[in-house]
Amino acid sequence: MLSAAFEPVDRVGWQRAMTLFVSGRVEVVESYAERVVRTIDRAFQLPAVVRFHTGTRHQTRRLVRFSRENVWLRDSGCCQYCAEPVPLARITYDHVVPRSRGGRTGWDNVVIACRPCNQRKADRTPEEAGMWLSRAPVRPRNLPRWRHPDIRWREDMPAPWAPYLGAAFPT
Ligand SMILES: [Zn+2]
Repeated sequence: MLSAAFEPVDRVGWQRAMTLFVSGRVEVVESYAERVVRTIDRAFQLPAVVRFHTGTRHQTRRLVRFSRENVWLRDSGCCQYCAEPVPLARITYDHVVPRSRGGRTGWDNVVIACRPCNQRKADRTPEEAGMWLSRAPVRPRNLPRWRHPDIRWREDMPAPWAPYLGAAFPT
């Protein structure tokens, strides 16, 4: 799914894409020529890429759920102390105020940290450890979905997706 500005925003099944298309919320930008789906009285080429007509309201209204993956997306996949990229598979949470001092597990107290920074900081506050956050952690209003590995271009994805994912994230 693309935003009205042609930025990839999500990856959905074809049934969901068809529902959005039939209800008039998206237009079909690319389809699979050789694959056809039918309703009782109509036939459609299976959509490969769809685009919202207007802003993606439904994405910005919902509260962003707190999860490891979403914290990683908010923090641009980088350690918030040294700015080194941290692969999603190897992320470690850092509690800015340590749990032992009553620090909560939530958007405003958890950041992505690389292993060395996490170990160096240990059970201390950033001030005590002499480490500084790139920015204060807050609940994001929305997330840059195109950074998600699911919607980043890979060779095993359908060919019609390539120009849209490639344009946003050159490989
Ligand atoms: Zn680090």
